[in-house]
Amino acid sequence: MYYKYVVVGAGLAGLTMAERIANVLDEKVLVIEKRNHIGGNVYDSYNEDGILIHNYGPHIFHTNDQEVYYYLSKFTKWNDFWHRVLTYVDGNLIPMPITVETINKLYNLNLDCTQVEEFLKKQSVEIKDIKTSKDVALSKVGQDIYGKFFENYTKKQWGIDPAELDTSVISRIPIRYNRDTRYFNDKYQGMPTHGYTKMCENMAANKNIKILLNTDFKEVMNEITYDKLIYTGPVDEYYNQKHGKLAYRSIHFEFETFDQEEYQEAPVVNYPNDYDYTRITEFKKLTWQKHEKTTICKEFPGAEGEPYYPFPTKEWKAKYGLYQEEMKKETKVIFIGRLAEYRYYNMDAVVRRALDAFEEFIK
Ligand SMILES: Cc1cc2nc3c(=O)[nH]c(=O)nc-3n(C[C@H](O)[C@H](O)[C@H](O)COP(=O)(O)OP(=O)(O)OC[C@H]3O[C@@H](n4cnc5c(N)ncnc54)[C@H](O)[C@@H]3O)c2cc1C
Repeated sequence: MYYKYVVVGAGLAGLTMAERIANVLDEKVLVIEKRNHIGGNVYDSYNEDGILIHNYGPHIFHTNDQEVYYYLSKFTKWNDFWHRVLTYVDGNLIPMPITVETINKLYNLNLDCTQVEEFLKKQSVEIKDIKTSKDVALSKVGQDIYGKFFENYTKKQWGIDPAELDTSVISRIPIRYNRDTRYFNDKYQGMPTHGYTKMCENMAANKNIKILLNTDFKEVMNEITYDKLIYTGPVDEYYNQKHGKLAYRSIHFEFETFDQEEYQEAPVVNYPNDYDYTRITEFKKLTWQKHEKTTICKEFPGAEGEPYYPFPTKEWKAKYGLYQEEMKKETKVIFIGRLAEYRYYNMDAVVRRALDAFEEFIK
């Protein structure tokens, strides 16, 4: 079977590429997906009680990239959701990220914005050569807040001490010297009004796009010829793990439905120090669905299972570097997305990556 363009993986990276090829170039494109659905990890579906859940963990869209926002807005409308997160510490629910409200509630104080800035300066530890996530946190918030909010959460999430993780992991958490408790401060935020799967279906709704579900690329690769292959699966699998297997952190999701309208105060509650799970999400608080029952999801990080988060350590980045050398030699294959590039992408960033790759390598 010959297709000029073949895409492996029907996640946001693959679908953006397929959509551009089909619509802009008016060319046929074959998408091969090993799961029984499109959408990759942003896939959502209605559970047996009719509540919309995110099957691979909660996904909140937020971006400052206007072009990406306009691009996705062709396929969905959005609700006006602003994300909020509470963290369970010492028996209290404290707002995250760190704001004036967080400090006041944690220490039972009544400081203003300037006083909180001074307070955090006094707490922070001077570290000359910041090398790890622990260094970042200590230098920003000091030992006490690091211990209460970050140390155990990060250990649970990654299975290793923050002192072993590179700076990218904790540096993403902002500190605000004001009372704005919204989790993200990006210009555009929201949830797709009819869900991510519907948005993805709209992206794929073009007669030029043919999707093969339940099909592993490895099983059909010898039967397919192409001019360009856009590969969004795991890069180590593509090369038969010739440089070894790349490590990922996985998560086991446990869903529970309750015969009550509401479960918790915020869409997400973090549990850094208690229980084995890292957080609980209540889906109706994201999607604004009206329903007399409610469904929550607990996240248990672990080493086994679906590959979710590339490991942000020097050792694994170096191993990925060996695959990068192989990728550079390819003339017909473009590697994009979180698995192929072995890096964490937010949804907006992966769509940006695919739009740019289309302009650069395809168009
Ligand atoms: C728990 C969790 C929460 C997240 N929350 C957010 C959030 O709140 N906000 C945000 O912006 N981003 C979030 N993300 C990130 C978001 O999921 C990614 O940006 C996005 O899914 C990346 O898309 P992708 O196409 O690169 O990868 P994927 O969505 O993983 O798609 C890759 C696809 O390729 C398929 N595939 C792999 N190998 C093969 C093969 N051999 N043959 C055929 N098909 C194959 C896979 O089945 C998969 O469907 C979250 C991620 C996780 C894990």
